[in-house]
Amino acid sequence: MLSTNDIKPTGGPRAPLAPVLSRSSFAAPRAPRPPSILDAGQVRLVTSGRIAIGLALREMQAGAGHKILVPAYHSMSMIAPVLACGAQPLFYKVGMDTAVDLADVQSKLDPSVKAIMVTSYFGIPQAFETIRAFCDRHGLMLIEDCAHCFFGEHAGRAVGSWGDYAIGSSMKFFPIYEGGCLVSARHVLRTPAPVSAGKGFELKAALNALENSFAYGRLPLVKAALWLPLRLKDFLWKRAKPAAGHNAQARAPSSSDSSYEFDPRWLDKRSSHFSRWVLRRASHARIVQRRRANYLRLERALAGLPGCRPLFASLPGGACPWLFPLLVDEPQPLFERLHAAGVPMTRFAETLWPGVDGRVCASSAALSRRVLAFPVHQELAEDELAWMIAAIRSGAGA
Ligand SMILES: *Cc1c(COP(=O)(O)O)cnc(C)c1O
Repeated sequence: MLSTNDIKPTGGPRAPLAPVLSRSSFAAPRAPRPPSILDAGQVRLVTSGRIAIGLALREMQAGAGHKILVPAYHSMSMIAPVLACGAQPLFYKVGMDTAVDLADVQSKLDPSVKAIMVTSYFGIPQAFETIRAFCDRHGLMLIEDCAHCFFGEHAGRAVGSWGDYAIGSSMKFFPIYEGGCLVSARHVLRTPAPVSAGKGFELKAALNALENSFAYGRLPLVKAALWLPLRLKDFLWKRAKPAAGHNAQARAPSSSDSSYEFDPRWLDKRSSHFSRWVLRRASHARIVQRRRANYLRLERALAGLPGCRPLFASLPGGACPWLFPLLVDEPQPLFERLHAAGVPMTRFAETLWPGVDGRVCASSAALSRRVLAFPVHQELAEDELAWMIAAIRSGAGA
């Protein structure tokens, strides 16, 4: 059992919210690879999911005078690239099961609507057979937002192969500091091969992933070996800071610092060598297998908790979950108790685009308030998982 003395970054959760590097990250790299967005078509590896959205919009020549349909249940990072290309977001409804409300989408169509962004929330694929047919019927471009489903298949096809373009957010699934991908199964990509963002960025991408891992007690030997280089890095970073505000190239894409900003200077930048190496070498089979097992374990352990139920009735066979979303009747007191206990959790879409409220979509307003989502990633240790489950159960008054 974890105690209050356990290692954790100051103020952070007591178990990692996102995957951190460990020795097991690279176990059995030769096991057969499960389907992922990388199998869907041509790929460009960039530094974030939002940059990939920006590139998808550029590929389809979206711009001023165009509207892009965006779900009312969204991450703010999906909106900035739409505005950056000069188009306007138009919000459509989703149901309490997160399914796209196609009747609402239909009612919003007009000749200026260029594309629709569809998100497979928490890793559960949307009904893409129907959505793809709808888009074909109405001449709509489909951006498949696989930020929550890097892995998985639906109706026998890899995630990412339904959209005209698909985007992924690699940081949500791999122990890396930055990464995203643009994929197309249906069009030849015009986006040129991205270029390195420079030596400083390459170094930062590697060291930050390692530091994040050290913060949770992983890789102690590497930590010892890197003690001096890391002190040096902190020193150099502090000295470089004063210039950074106005300087040309920010040293990290905003997604890596958990903001929602969109910086077009990253559109032509490649994901770091380190991130791409982890993508190639990490065991994909282990990621999918552990995430599914951890999800099912949370589902069983949290069944019947008063005032709580899983957002999804079941985990579909081909899905690889991002998080375990729990729908809570009175979320705020539980959130505060768990937060104080250091339980890692995410409130996806907690902040919605200004004006996107219950009148635009009642489900989205409810979901953004009521869903507390817990990590199921492959790097959760057994004691962390057991502690987290016990903390959630006791927090909910089981
Ligand atoms: C995280 C996220 C994105 C953007 O990905 P970043 O890598 O953070 O830029 C896009 N869509 C959804 C639904 C997300 O959760």
